[in-house]
Amino acid sequence: MKSEQNPVKKLQLFDTYRRGIYPFYPISDEVVSIYICGPTVYNYAHIGNLRNYVFVDVLKRVLRINDYTVQDVMNITDVGHLSSDADSGEDKMQIGARQQQRCAWEIAKYFETAFLDDLTALEVSHAGVVCRATEHIDEQISYIVQLEAKGFTYQTPDGIYFDTQMLDSYGYIARLNIAGQQGGKRVDLGHKRHLTDFALWKFSVTKDDTKERQMQWSSPWGTGFPGWHIECSAMSEKYLGPRFDIHVGGEDHISVHHANEIAQCEARYGEQPASFWMHGRFLQLDGEKLSKSGKSLRLLDLVNRGYEPLDFRYLLLTSHYRSHLNFSIKALNSAARALKRLRTMLATWPSFGEINVGYKNSFVGLVNHDLKMPQALAVLWQVTKSGLSNADKKATIYFFDKILGLSLSQQVAVKEYPQAIIDLANNRDEARKNQRWQQSDAIRKELSDLGYLIVDGKSGYKIKRI
Ligand code: AMP
Ligand code: ZN
Repeated sequence: MKSEQNPVKKLQLFDTYRRGIYPFYPISDEVVSIYICGPTVYNYAHIGNLRNYVFVDVLKRVLRINDYTVQDVMNITDVGHLSSDADSGEDKMQIGARQQQRCAWEIAKYFETAFLDDLTALEVSHAGVVCRATEHIDEQISYIVQLEAKGFTYQTPDGIYFDTQMLDSYGYIARLNIAGQQGGKRVDLGHKRHLTDFALWKFSVTKDDTKERQMQWSSPWGTGFPGWHIECSAMSEKYLGPRFDIHVGGEDHISVHHANEIAQCEARYGEQPASFWMHGRFLQLDGEKLSKSGKSLRLLDLVNRGYEPLDFRYLLLTSHYRSHLNFSIKALNSAARALKRLRTMLATWPSFGEINVGYKNSFVGLVNHDLKMPQALAVLWQVTKSGLSNADKKATIYFFDKILGLSLSQQVAVKEYPQAIIDLANNRDEARKNQRWQQSDAIRKELSDLGYLIVDGKSGYKIKRI
């Protein structure tokens, strides 16, 4: 049905699992279910983290433009993410709490709110369900009980572990060379049987975790807390069922977190949960890795330097989500300049034009081809220079903004010129088009008395300050 309506625009997305771009068909005809790996809330999100969620936001907008309803779920990791992804070290929440001399529960709530505020500032819509690991302990325990019943777990002095050797397919998404890894240089496995085995449940008091924990629960195996990976399997299953359409996260998730989520689902259901696995590449800062606890840069830092959050969003749209992007103030400056130019242009153009079908098709064709946003932005700039009337350019660009999310239609007009001036200019244009010359001249005079000049051009009029 959809492909009949839009033969050239069928949505295709890159699937990390299959390492290729494939046509997207959701499990249900109308609704697309998405699970988004959310932040670990022990500190402020950095602009790299935010890149990931802007990518997801663009994806959701593209799905909506394809007439799908999006059902999305994002977790908040507020317990269980250890300082090393290999399940050693301390819980990041505990470290954060100690460093900031606040309790773990308090910092979790605080940084979750700060994160969601950053998303709002970037025009990233919040997921329909935002779910916290600490509020789904029972679901995680019962998932582990199921895995245990099927023989996929073993106990060590510090927790319950998933035995990755039980699955031939383990690590396929990352194309992990398990044999190579195991046979490689000697590593300290602790009590684990194999290098890739991972914790499902960690006990509270072990030699690794001697500090008194603030977040702990009783379980069939003893008091402790869940591992990081089980929360996503338990919560995605609870809200989306064992099979859903798209699972998203950052590129760092491929080799450990998502390999482990897949292992849990395969052990429990015999198949991996998502039709598409999509991963956003990292943003770097002047060529270096960003980290919440090390070299970091927040959205607020940019705002304090006089940038708008949407300047940063524009910058993100200039690169493809599967390419590395290096953040620099120079690049942000040119994004801010481009956005300002666009707004200024739009502010001078009349409304009520029509969306140009040709440009619309090129734009949708590009975003439907695995979210080619840089090329789609190029189409936008082509429109500004095209022979279309300014009113049609404006209507076409406002349509593009449904995907871009730059709030072009809301802010511009009033900011650059008072609405009364824009209304007068529109009335004059109407009068001129209908050859009511006297009326048109009278309005022009009125505008000029108010300090504004109307310049007619081939593609429409522009307002200028005298
Ligand atoms: P975290 O809060 O560390 O769990 O990360 C939240 C999300 O941000 C995850 O999906 C990460 O993969 C992603 N992420 C972390 N660092 C970056 C970065 N520099 N660029 C883009 N995404 C990132
Ligand atoms: Zn996850």
